[in-house]
Amino acid sequence: MEPTTPYRKLFLHDKDNRVQNLYYDIEIKTIFIRTKLQNVKKKFWKYAKFLAKVYIEIIQPRMLEFGCIRDNAYCDWQRAKRKSYTNNSSEKKNEEIRMSSIYHEADDEYEEMVLESQLYDENIRLVQDKIKEINNHQKDIMYYKKCAHCETMKNVTTAECSLKHKLCYDCIHDKTECPVCDEDMGLFHCDICYRYKKELVDTGCKNKHQTCKVCLVKIIRKNNLCPFCRDTCNKVPPSVVPIYVEGTHHTVEEMEQPYSDGRGRYMSYSR
Ligand SMILES: [Zn+2]
Ligand SMILES: [Zn+2]
Ligand SMILES: [Zn+2]
Ligand SMILES: [Zn+2]
Repeated sequence: MEPTTPYRKLFLHDKDNRVQNLYYDIEIKTIFIRTKLQNVKKKFWKYAKFLAKVYIEIIQPRMLEFGCIRDNAYCDWQRAKRKSYTNNSSEKKNEEIRMSSIYHEADDEYEEMVLESQLYDENIRLVQDKIKEINNHQKDIMYYKKCAHCETMKNVTTAECSLKHKLCYDCIHDKTECPVCDEDMGLFHCDICYRYKKELVDTGCKNKHQTCKVCLVKIIRKNNLCPFCRDTCNKVPPSVVPIYVEGTHHTVEEMEQPYSDGRGRYMSYSR
């Protein structure tokens, strides 16, 4: 059985199928070299610009011209038709037939021109879509670097090893040793979120239990109780935090103090 080659569109003015090959043989998503991507994009740009120029300078004027020729031929034909009705001579009849064939020829030429202009539209659209695809991919890989471990281009983070290896998420996730240099990254395991973190902090309980910072913030917000021993975490007594009387800049304590009105008399806020 013959291998079926997928249908490849032909591109206009495409010497040696260069644009076609560029269009079908290059998988944009697999290119991570920025200059190469830019070069491919430039080639498509150049081609789209060229097509647009030919379209505006040659195709469009020709289509208008052919349209006029066709419309005029139609009028001539209709006029000849009327003359042949009113004056039923074989001479007029022949004239009508001649005009009819001129019109149909002009109509065919015009329709051909329309099809050609549609080809230009289609080609320009295809190339513009390709340029869009390249633009999106360029945005995606803006911050990509080669992972020092799996050597693919990805978003990378810097490992805590002394050589500061750049590693992708898959390679660094859940590791305590750098997978490249095997150096211990000095990470601690948080028993609440089960992740390795740069540092752990005391929850503030009497047993000196520890979690990561992110977990501790959540615990304090939730119930302020150590998840290991249920002792209070944040020992700052809530009363130290000033409580303001609603709608004023005065604390409850201030409001309860009598104050001087400047004439030696004391007034009180309290009712
Ligand atoms: Zn990796
Ligand atoms: Zn390392
Ligand atoms: Zn945690
Ligand atoms: Zn505890």
